[in-house]
Amino acid sequence: MLSGKTALVTGSTSGIGLGIARSLAEQGANIVFNGFGDAQQIEKLYTEVGEHFGVQTAYHNADMSKPAEIAAMMAFATEKFGGVDVLVNNAGIQHVANIEDFPAEKWDAIIAINLTSAFHTTRLALPGMKQKNWGRIINLASVHGLVGSAQKSAYVAAKHGLVGFTKVTALETAQTGVTCNAICPGWVLTPLVQKQVDDRAAREGTSNDVAKKALLAEKQPSGEFVTPEELGALAVFFCSPAGNQVRGVAWNMDGGWAAQ
Ligand code: NAD
Repeated sequence: MLSGKTALVTGSTSGIGLGIARSLAEQGANIVFNGFGDAQQIEKLYTEVGEHFGVQTAYHNADMSKPAEIAAMMAFATEKFGGVDVLVNNAGIQHVANIEDFPAEKWDAIIAINLTSAFHTTRLALPGMKQKNWGRIINLASVHGLVGSAQKSAYVAAKHGLVGFTKVTALETAQTGVTCNAICPGWVLTPLVQKQVDDRAAREGTSNDVAKKALLAEKQPSGEFVTPEELGALAVFFCSPAGNQVRGVAWNMDGGWAAQ
């Protein structure tokens, strides 16, 4: 379905971004990977995805908190593949603390990486997408783009902001072949969440398994984690012709979290 197209997935060296990159590659898209990690492991990862799915892959190490590096990454994608057809704004970080204890530099980093980076990638991708009259912008928000949780002020603010930005992007592209939507996952067991599981296990003196169950029981009625593969399938749907008129939605895949 996506052969001949190029997808750029920010923060795709791990977790959800990697799952979505694999799902898009399975549909034939060339992939530009981005994110942090060990250089050798990253090279292995993008080479393997390319070989496994028979697509071209590349990697750019832009730091999503740095607008100049984001611009360099977008230029790299254009040089390498002639532009970005599917943009997945996925890179994100978390920090958990009460507002009065929240380090100001963590607030700035979360807003920059989880929200402002999507403005920069989107503003740079849109001219090419509009010219081709086809494009898909998929913003990885969160169920925290729809509801709040204590101790996550910066994250919840950034994700609500990203849902708002998604709506405006969808309106500005409404009469084109470019669509923009947000995905709002509940708990997904990635390194970002594993850290919260570990912290909880240490705080409560329980095992990792008990901490995982407690985390789910608090918020996610299904009692099951969402998987990167399930989120990848939703991203593929947004890219399909059936998604042509799906515009500006914030689609939660959250085991019932936001239904409460
Ligand atoms: P993760 O920690 O597994 O992956 C995050 C990715 O972002 C990694 O590739 C990392 O290298 C990259 N990254 C971090 N800072 C970066 C920076 N400054 N520049 C470039 N890349 C950077 O996390 P994840 O759980 O896969 O999260 C992916 C997205 O999904 C995030 O936006 C997160 O907020 C969102 N999300 C996650 C969950 C969950 O339960 N895991 C739920 C809802 C939303």
